[in-house]
Amino acid sequence: MARTMMDAPLTLDVLVRRAAEQTGHVEIVSRRPDKSIHRTTYAAVVGRSLRLARALVSLGIRPGDRVATLMWNHAEHLEAYFGIPLSGAVLHTLNLRLPPEEICWIINDAKDRLLVIDEVLLPLFMKCGGPSLFERVYVVRSSADPLPEGLSDYEALLASAPEVALPALAEEQPLGTCYTSGTTGKPKGVVYTHRSTVLHSLVSALPDSLDLSRRDCLLPVVPMFHVNAWGLPYTCAMVGCKLVFPGPHLDGKSILELMEAERVTLAAGVPTIWLGIRDELERQPRKLQPGVRMVVGGAAAPEQLIRDFDRMGLLLLHAWGMTETSPVGLVSRLTPEAEALPEAERYALRAKQGVPPPLVEVRVRNDAGDVPRDARTSGELLVRSPWVASSYVNNAAPERWTDDGWFRTGDVATIDAYGFVQLVDRTADLIKSGGEWIASQTIENRLMGHATIREAAVIGVAHAKWSERPLAVIAFKAGQSATPDELRAFVTEHLPKFWAPDEFVVVEAIPRTSAGKFDKRALRESYRR
Ligand code: AMP
Repeated sequence: MARTMMDAPLTLDVLVRRAAEQTGHVEIVSRRPDKSIHRTTYAAVVGRSLRLARALVSLGIRPGDRVATLMWNHAEHLEAYFGIPLSGAVLHTLNLRLPPEEICWIINDAKDRLLVIDEVLLPLFMKCGGPSLFERVYVVRSSADPLPEGLSDYEALLASAPEVALPALAEEQPLGTCYTSGTTGKPKGVVYTHRSTVLHSLVSALPDSLDLSRRDCLLPVVPMFHVNAWGLPYTCAMVGCKLVFPGPHLDGKSILELMEAERVTLAAGVPTIWLGIRDELERQPRKLQPGVRMVVGGAAAPEQLIRDFDRMGLLLLHAWGMTETSPVGLVSRLTPEAEALPEAERYALRAKQGVPPPLVEVRVRNDAGDVPRDARTSGELLVRSPWVASSYVNNAAPERWTDDGWFRTGDVATIDAYGFVQLVDRTADLIKSGGEWIASQTIENRLMGHATIREAAVIGVAHAKWSERPLAVIAFKAGQSATPDELRAFVTEHLPKFWAPDEFVVVEAIPRTSAGKFDKRALRESYRR
């Protein structure tokens, strides 16, 4: 058939050009390791990223080659987000919170050729194996100390960029790669394309999705090494909004200081970050922008957190996603019909993971087929979209895809009459007690609604009679406590009696994973027996 519309590829260069031409003056603000504030603009970042791209081409980097980063959130990392794909190479954001041997394993699996690294992360890098892991390593300097043997200066690399032509990009070409955090088995690599990234950015920005526009000022607390900061740097480039990067300073106080000073309208991060921010705001209220929104995902946002923030005039927007889904897959925003519901039902809906945005399709399937939209029957959440992976690097775990082309998320969910999906648990976290399933995540969310509890995680522990029983690991709010019987009564007000945890272990704080989520694997190792 004759083509009637232009074949204009969906590639990153189009977004980046627009960012420089239409919104070149818009600020990009970064907090440095020494806490000082650095200011630049889209025009300057794009200019430097083009130099990076040309330097990479002149070093012999070819389309499809992997170039890794080991960096916090800041302007130079944004340069790499743009510059590495503009050279035709694949941006591989390494997760600096993983154990060194796992980082080393991932570098080898991805066959990374070069690395760009923050100077403050060199001690970690040396523990991973150091310069011999890469052909070359470029350091983003934060001191004037001499560089150790075998490392090069990132600024010198940019300064040396010759006037070479950049390769034309194709939309199906790989743009970036991220590894899953490996909660089950070895980490697995997902490769995003230019097309998947552009489409993901477009849909993420829609009003019923994350609602991002030129008028916003976004602070991604979510690290740029966790699913590309949820794709937000690309979404921001697309809409041309101001970006504020927190660098390595992720405590509640530093984040709130930045939100206040830079007039942030939208921030994004995992629930554990917002637990800290809630506590800090309760200690000392701040003058934030009216109606400031926070996108919370990566783990379930407890309903209580949504209520607490509402009281303070902050809107928590709950979203769900995975490394494999780029990640935006569900967003929980009240529909006009749901706005009219009684308060309790509105909060219950907002605490669900939400509805799929355009171009994402979901279904919830169990052994009997697709589950009814009754908010009760559960099954595995399956997902399909142009920004959902269709395979892993090196073809790992092909069983994660169904024969009819859906990705198996491993999340167990229900779906209601409004089409809102609610996760009840990860398949791997479900507890089997006396032949019945208990959803650990549902108990956790209930417990975190108790006035005394700050953090809660529930795991299954071996039991002679019931095979497994729930054990809750909890951290109380400062100066608060409750008895196990009080907590059990609170849980069973809403949930079946046999879901009440047999035991409560009180800790100062629950250990976190590399993505900042509650680390249930570590808890199982500590308390299984
Ligand atoms: P990752 O690939 O590290 O981002 O982890 C993806 C997993 O995080 C999902 O499969 C879910 O189990 C979990 N997850 C992400 N967002 C949410 C959410 N809003 N509520 C509950 N779990 C979530």
